[in-house]
Amino acid sequence: MYRFSRQIFVEIKDAVDPSPDTVSVPEARRRILAACESTIERLARDSRYFPKPARSLFQEIRYYFPITEQARVYYTVERYIGLAQDFIRDEIERHGEGVVAPCRATTRKGKPCQRTPLPGREYCPSHSHLEEVVLSA
Ligand SMILES: [Zn+2]
Repeated sequence: MYRFSRQIFVEIKDAVDPSPDTVSVPEARRRILAACESTIERLARDSRYFPKPARSLFQEIRYYFPITEQARVYYTVERYIGLAQDFIRDEIERHGEGVVAPCRATTRKGKPCQRTPLPGREYCPSHSHLEEVVLSA
């Protein structure tokens, strides 16, 4: 799924020009990539309960771009979010609900686990013990 957020980021990162200069360009890029990734994550996790994802991402990042670039940024966001939505829809049709969301566990380094859960499960095989805890609670 992260290829979609990565593609958005790659296409718009050179247009970053925070104004007024409250953040540096590298910091603005870091925030933009994080916003793209969390949008894609949320889309993968519950696409049906996420109205207007492209607009919501654009609202979050538009201030890091000059006015003259905002239309292009919006179309880029809209295009890749649309592709991500198509991808999710296809995956759900093919494999059933829940299979495209990554494992819900956090790794020892504090990052979200990127592995794919077993069909119908929320955790990957190495974190399946967490699911049992939730189910028995
Ligand atoms: Zn996992």
